[in-house]
Amino acid sequence: MYEELRNELKKRKYRITAQREMILKIFLESKGRHLGVDEVYRELLNRNVRVSKATVYRAVELLVELGFLRKLNFGEGLYRYELIDRSTRESHQHVICQKCGKIVEINSEQVKKIVSDISEKTGYVIKWHDLKFYGLCPECQKEESKAPESGQRTEISEEG
Ligand SMILES: [Zn+2]
Ligand SMILES: [Zn+2]
Repeated sequence: MYEELRNELKKRKYRITAQREMILKIFLESKGRHLGVDEVYRELLNRNVRVSKATVYRAVELLVELGFLRKLNFGEGLYRYELIDRSTRESHQHVICQKCGKIVEINSEQVKKIVSDISEKTGYVIKWHDLKFYGLCPECQKEESKAPESGQRTEISEEG
């Protein structure tokens, strides 16, 4: 992966920086997660890599351009990024909890069928798709059922 990155950077006459490699490393190590620029930035600070958030943003966008990361919008007012499987380049679907923001990935066989169906009908080669489902995760459903249905709470909560 790093070798591929170095080659891509060289090909396009970009400098190979330790920061760019470190950012790719962060994504490799957090496989299956969908990181925003802030999270990548914090992760870099944890590893004692001092950079500005703008640098992180530019580096992440470059990795998108080079085909290493996919840019995602889950309607939170920020972009998230995930590693692209460079061997299969396969798309997957996301299920998002509207309460806690937890994201689960699924790889639906039915969606695969839909994609090949669309391809057949339109003659297009479908390279990727972006399909999201929003709702409540099991934990948040439990929380919801615990919370009082209506009316104000009379006791003063200790927390918060
Ligand atoms: Zn949730
Ligand atoms: Zn994903």
